[in-house]
Amino acid sequence: MKKSTKRKLIWFIIIVVLCIVFAPVVESILDSILNSFLPEPEIHIYTIDEHPFDSKGELKIHYIDVGQADSILITLNDNSMLIDAGNNGDGDLVVDYLLDQGIEKLNYIIGTHPHEDHVGGLDDVIDAFDADIIILPNVKTTTNTFESVLDSIDAKNERITQVEVGDTFTFDAANFTVLSVMNSPPDELNLCSVVIRLEYGNNSFMFTGDAETYNEKAMLSSGLTLESDVLKVGHHGSDSSSSAAFIKAVAPKIGIISCGIDNKYGHPCQVTLDTLDKYGVSVYRTDMLGTIIVTSDGNTIKVTWEGK
Ligand SMILES: [Zn+2]
Repeated sequence: MKKSTKRKLIWFIIIVVLCIVFAPVVESILDSILNSFLPEPEIHIYTIDEHPFDSKGELKIHYIDVGQADSILITLNDNSMLIDAGNNGDGDLVVDYLLDQGIEKLNYIIGTHPHEDHVGGLDDVIDAFDADIIILPNVKTTTNTFESVLDSIDAKNERITQVEVGDTFTFDAANFTVLSVMNSPPDELNLCSVVIRLEYGNNSFMFTGDAETYNEKAMLSSGLTLESDVLKVGHHGSDSSSSAAFIKAVAPKIGIISCGIDNKYGHPCQVTLDTLDKYGVSVYRTDMLGTIIVTSDGNTIKVTWEGK
């Protein structure tokens, strides 16, 4: 072997050894540099000034980042509920998220209405998890998306529970009331959205699907309690929802908007953001923050997020 080749070989071996020895150090330095550009998850605490509730566990609400769609997982002790499951392509994402949370079965599945951005991934969820109660509005549509949800329900020998406004269900130490649903087929499927208000101790949470101002008017005249600490803002922040009268009556402290970055609908609409701002609602958006997690012990609400 020539002397220069031998020297090159020695240098090569030295560099390889150095790379192996220092790779973890370099990797952690690069990681910390990259992480310094990511927003830190922040925690906002809202203490509700009422008679303290003797907490029965931590209620956890995950507004899963499924882009321009809705999917919300709610857990309390061993009980779990899923409201919507994102678009067709989100089925695996939602199933994996539930598995990561240790979900083995769901006590409730609510498909708010048959649009793809709400029930798209629901067939995958129903295939993967048994459910005690599956709630869907009684609307017949023949889209492939909705048909495949019904097929999955049939295949598991499950049945659909049809609900009416005012129906109340127990969810571990919490309970929820149906505020809106339309079981006769309207022209606009958003109008049949199942809207519920979940109450846990001194805290309350409203989930609106894509209910519109038409539904908001009906809820306002229903006589049911609307006031909620946390509002899942209707229809991804569209101006077809969140009328001033409704936001004033719900009086949420926190508004969660589930929407996709640069979505083609322009959600959330500026007029909605202005209304929420006018009534002092702190807004958290999945397009900016990724998955948002709201926790409550029945007295105090915390908001955290995973980041994009
Ligand atoms: Zn929608």
